[in-house]
Amino acid sequence: MPIWEPEAECISRDELEQLQLERLQATLNRVYRNVSFFRRRFKELNFRPEDDFTELKDLERLPFTTSLDISNSYPYEMFAVPLREVVRVHTSSGTSTNPRVVGYTRQDLRIWSNLVARILSAGGVTQDDVIQVTFGYGLMTGGLGIHYGAERIGASVLPTSVGRTERQIKIMQDFRTTVLVSTPSYTLVIAERMERMKVDPRRLSLKYSICAGEPWTEAMRREIEERLYVKATDNYGVSEVIGPGVAGECLEQNGMHLQEDHFYAEVIDPISGKVLEPGAEGEVVITTLKKEAFPMIRYRTGDLSRIMTERCPCGRTFRRMSRIRGRCDEVVVIKGINIIPERIGDILEQIKGERPIYQLVATRQHHQDQLEIWVEVTEQFFFDKMREQRALVDLMQQKVTNFIGITPRIKLVEKGSLERDGGVVKLFADRREVSHA
Ligand code: ZN
Repeated sequence: MPIWEPEAECISRDELEQLQLERLQATLNRVYRNVSFFRRRFKELNFRPEDDFTELKDLERLPFTTSLDISNSYPYEMFAVPLREVVRVHTSSGTSTNPRVVGYTRQDLRIWSNLVARILSAGGVTQDDVIQVTFGYGLMTGGLGIHYGAERIGASVLPTSVGRTERQIKIMQDFRTTVLVSTPSYTLVIAERMERMKVDPRRLSLKYSICAGEPWTEAMRREIEERLYVKATDNYGVSEVIGPGVAGECLEQNGMHLQEDHFYAEVIDPISGKVLEPGAEGEVVITTLKKEAFPMIRYRTGDLSRIMTERCPCGRTFRRMSRIRGRCDEVVVIKGINIIPERIGDILEQIKGERPIYQLVATRQHHQDQLEIWVEVTEQFFFDKMREQRALVDLMQQKVTNFIGITPRIKLVEKGSLERDGGVVKLFADRREVSHA
């Protein structure tokens, strides 16, 4: 498979480090000059980029930037260029805060589409492909980000945007789509619907599935590949640093190459903030190296991953990130495994087609963590249907085990019996201390 920009993607590590150093130096100078938020922070530390930044490690002296910092700078406070040089604006939604607004100069857009082109190429896309983009086209970065990268390659782009699954499938059939870009869970929704519509995926032209936008698992990848007869790759975007195009998997399907000539990534312990050695799992922190309108210094993504240093057989020298394991603020650790209670709901939802009310309960017996999942079922089901209950429990247990790698005990409970707080069931209850005593 051709590499989109071999002179960059296969650069020697020494040259890359030199390039990162130079670009980072320039970026730090620029934000110091042009963004009052960063200037203030650097001054507080007595940090002058020209004198105090001489090696990559010096970056660790600088504080992190959080999503709240960006929200607080709403809308344009963190832009490093005047608005007349900004040619595009996107946002990333904040739940209870102001949206995070990011801007792009003409050069930023050129670079962005090129980075996405690299990632799509790595996932198998060429100018001969017909690529269907099911991400939202709007203020979010996903749709337009992928769109321009695909055009850059010269593929034929179908900007179908989100939703209307049957129409997506009809387009896939009639327009002979070869590449589907989608979240992994929506890819499975499409596969499911095809089955119901009696559409045989083997009669489609589909070859590749490019997945992004949410954490997923190897089991989901296998399911996508088996049901749609495609090769599925993973990629990673962060709206606050660019959008899609930060890292992407090659056809080796073993981690996502970080675009290290444009992003400097660190992995930190999310609690202490300490920078971890390569290979250790932690929160991904990204600094942009070339952005003009919206440079970002040590942005805490909240995403959990680890950096793999082994050489990749594909020839790219950029280091790889393991798939995103989830969000730091959502993770609970049981038996040494990071689990995101919300994701368990996705699995349970697949079984019955609707999301049940459930709670993960961690207990401890004989010094061993145990995971229980309590699931509410209707009163009638609870009292009448012993055999169906057994089957449902087995299926849930099997699906969840495949997903997280440890076997939970599933307990069906009567509707309304899980403890509510303001009408809402907490997804996780930690009873390890209690059960230990
Ligand atoms: Zn590779």
